[in-house]
Parts: sequence; structure tokens; C-alpha cells
Amino acid sequence: MCTAVKTAILGGGLSGLTLAHILAGRGEDVLVLEAEEAIGGLCRSRTGDGFCFDTGGSHIIFSRDSEVLGFMLSVLGENRAERKRNTKIFYKDRFVKYPFENGLSGLPREDLYLCLSEYIKTLIAAEKGELPPVVSFRDWIYTTFGAGIAECYLMPYNRKIWNYPPEQMSAHWVEGRVPRPPVEDIIRSAIGIETEGYTHQAVFSYPLHGGIEALVRAIAEPVMDRVTCGFGASRIRRTPGGWEITDGTRTVRAGKLISTIPLQNLLPALDGVPAAVREALGALRYNSVCSVFIGVRGEVPPISWLYVPMPETGLFNRVSFPSNFSTAVAPEGCSSVLAEITYNDGDPVTGMKDDEIIGHVISSLESMGLIRKDAVVSSGIARHRFAYVVYDLDYLKNIRTVRDYCREIGIDLVGRFAQFEYLNMDGCIRSVMDYTGWRP
Ligand SMILES: Cc1cc2nc3c(=O)[nH]c(=O)nc-3n(C[C@H](O)[C@H](O)[C@H](O)COP(=O)(O)OP(=O)(O)OC[C@H]3O[C@@H](n4cnc5c(N)ncnc54)[C@H](O)[C@@H]3O)c2cc1C
Repeated sequence: MCTAVKTAILGGGLSGLTLAHILAGRGEDVLVLEAEEAIGGLCRSRTGDGFCFDTGGSHIIFSRDSEVLGFMLSVLGENRAERKRNTKIFYKDRFVKYPFENGLSGLPREDLYLCLSEYIKTLIAAEKGELPPVVSFRDWIYTTFGAGIAECYLMPYNRKIWNYPPEQMSAHWVEGRVPRPPVEDIIRSAIGIETEGYTHQAVFSYPLHGGIEALVRAIAEPVMDRVTCGFGASRIRRTPGGWEITDGTRTVRAGKLISTIPLQNLLPALDGVPAAVREALGALRYNSVCSVFIGVRGEVPPISWLYVPMPETGLFNRVSFPSNFSTAVAPEGCSSVLAEITYNDGDPVTGMKDDEIIGHVISSLESMGLIRKDAVVSSGIARHRFAYVVYDLDYLKNIRTVRDYCREIGIDLVGRFAQFEYLNMDGCIRSVMDYTGWRP
């Protein structure tokens, strides 16, 4: 079989489908090629036993980009609920308000003293120009928050989620992503006056029905006839007229090629990639996520999600409560819990059977006082290999090499693992809007 199109889009996740939505809306001849049997990528959702869970970890809709937020909300139409964030950090058996520095009064007094005094020392050092230069993410944490907040929360949490030492991570990406609160907020929160941090996420939306996949489905709806699922691009060749893409049995010819698939899948499909580019690609770091789904009879605490920094509490870095986002994602009288474990090949979790991981999560959640084992009525697990881009110290050098090469050969890169950037859904849609020049 051979199909010819003007533009082929590799990948049917949020980025590829938003691209198709916009380009087809302009009358362009596009075809989306998706390796899996279903669309959605990291934004897939799975329904079973009456529960609906997001397979790529718990997702919410938020953005400080009003144009993008408006687009996401308008495609969902009536199918959405708005919620006020109630997020906590599990710290020494307490539920401390998030962000941590806005919840200091919830700490044991000795820890509160440590966090506050180290923060003040850091401010004084900054005033005197005595802070060391910031090279790594670890440096940024210590010079922004002081050793107390760093050691009580930020270092253990970031070690867990990135599965990589913060001292070996770059600091270039941090501003705007890791909340940096005003001094007044830290002092107010330490003496028990309510403050709110990271405010553009304080209210968020979530689909009423269908989990986060409902958002992708709503975007894809007008272009579903232009999506071919089960087509894993395994060989990509330049031809005089453009590109030839094959999955081993079928071939698609396209004048233009846009890739939203991970670079780690794209480059091996190309012939003649120079050794220096392959080396740079091989050095780019990412991690995987294992999502564990637990359905319980009865209620769960009224928390949106919970950060879990300490390794001894459990393997997971975050626990979310999707039925608090929309009651329709759990059967009547039931609630849902989703735990996320980030990992890399060879980590202990890769050697554990699904039942072992689920058992570990249920026991840990019970020890934390979140659920009762005898109330569990459903469980499941999903894994995504490409979950988080990890910004190591060589990231900027390596990504430039790979991107320059793709530009040289004429493949456009759009999306989280194609650009190899820590893009949330809003960042992916912003990239698509900027790439296409489209405005809603
Ligand atoms: C744990 C976690 C929680 C998150 N929470 C949020 C949140 O709350 N809010 C938010 O805004 N964002 C969140 N995100 C980010 C969000 O999931 C991503 O920004 C978004 O889904 C990326 O979409 P994408 O299309 O760029 O990539 P992907 O979803 O990775 O899509 C790429 C697609 O390419 C396909 N593919 C791969 N190889 C091939 C091949 N060879 N041929 C054809 N197809 C191929 C894949 O199957 C996939 O469908 C979260 C991410 C994670 C990991």
C-alpha cells in the first residue's frame, strides 16, 4: 500500500492532533501516523470497572497562556468541571500545604525554624553578594530557598521525580516552573497567615467525562479520518519530492514531514545520521512513568494531589485523586487514587511484577492513612517510556546538535519529545500555534 499526502505528521498525541486540527482546518492535505492502536500519547485515559484513569499520570488543564487555555476549554465545551486546587506535601506524616514554602507553619517547629533561618541567611548572603554562582539545579534550589527548604523538601522530591541528582541537572529551565515565592509570602506562611503560591494553577479544569483523553478526542474529532493508527514509522527516507515513510508494510509519501514523536524514535528511522548526532542523541536523558490506578469504595481525602518526597514513604513521587476532579470518573459511592512512579531502565521497579507494584502502592497508601486495603475494588497499571525530559548539564549542547541536524535535513519538530523540552499540554499547543502561525 502506498499513500501520497502533502504533509505527514508523525505521532497522534496532543501535539500531532492539534497540528492536524489546525492544518486540516485550513484545507491542507494532512495525514497523522500513530504507532499505537489508539490516539492520545501521554494524554490517553483508560476505563475499567467503572473507573477512568489517565494512563500518562494524572493530568489537569491549566495555563497562564490565556489564548491556549481558551482553546482547550472551548474545544471541551460543556464537558468540563472547574476545581480549586487543594494540593499537599506528605511530610513526616503531615499534610503540608503546597507549595511547601507557602505551608511552612504546618511543619514541626524545629523544621520550621530550620527552613526560616536558612532562608533568611540566604537572603543576607544574596544582599552581600556572597552567594556562589548558579550552575546546577541544586545550586538554584539552595540559593533561592536556603538549605532548610532544600533539604526538607525540594532536594528529596526532585531527586525522586527526576530520578537523577539535582546537582547534575542544569538550572536553565527552572524559572517559572518551580515556584519562587515573594519573601513576604514565606514569612507570612511561616507565622501562619494563609498565602497562595503558584496562583495560575490555583483553579484548574478537568473533563467531566472521559478523563484527559476527552480533550485530545475533542481536538481530533474533526480530523479522525486523517489519522492512521498502528503505523509505527520505522524507516524514513528523503526522496526527490519530499519524504517516504514506512512502517515495514505500508508506505506514505509526503511533500513535508512534521515530527511530534520522540527524537529517540525518529533518528534511528533515518539513514546516514552522523556519528556526532547519534552520540548527542544517546546522551539526552529522559525518564519513564508507571501509573498505578486504585479504585476504592467510599471516600478519599478532599485533596487534589499529594507530593511524596521521601523514598521511605513509597516508590511514588505523587498521588492524585481523580474522582475529586470529576465525580464521573468513578462509580457511584467510590473514589479513585492514581500514584506515579518515575523510573529508568534497570531501576528496581522495572524488575517488579505489576501485582507487586500495585501491592506496594496499596500498602503505602494505607500506611499514609489515605485508603483502607479492604476498600480496594479495582486496580491497574500503565507505563509510558517517554514521560519526562531530564535537563542534565550537557542538555543544551546535545539538543542543539540534534535540532541543527533535523533542521538541516528538513524535518520540523513540534511537541514534548520531538522538541525534547519539558512542555506541558499548554506548551505543546503553544508550540503548534507558533509553528502554524494560527490564532484562535
Ligand atoms: C506524569 C505526567 C503528568 C503530566 N501532567 C500534566 C498536567 O497536569 N497538565 C499538562 O498540561 N500537562 C501534563 N503533562 C504533559 C503532557 O502529557 C504532555 O505535554 C503532552 O501529552 C505531550 O504531547 P505530545 O503529543 O507532544 O507527545 P506524546 O503524548 O508523547 O505523543 C507522541 C506520540 O507519538 C507516537 N509515536 C512514537 N513513536 C512513533 C513512531 N515511530 N511512529 C508513529 N508514532 C509514534 C506515540 O505513540 C505518541 O502517541 C504530564 C506529563 C506526565 C508525564
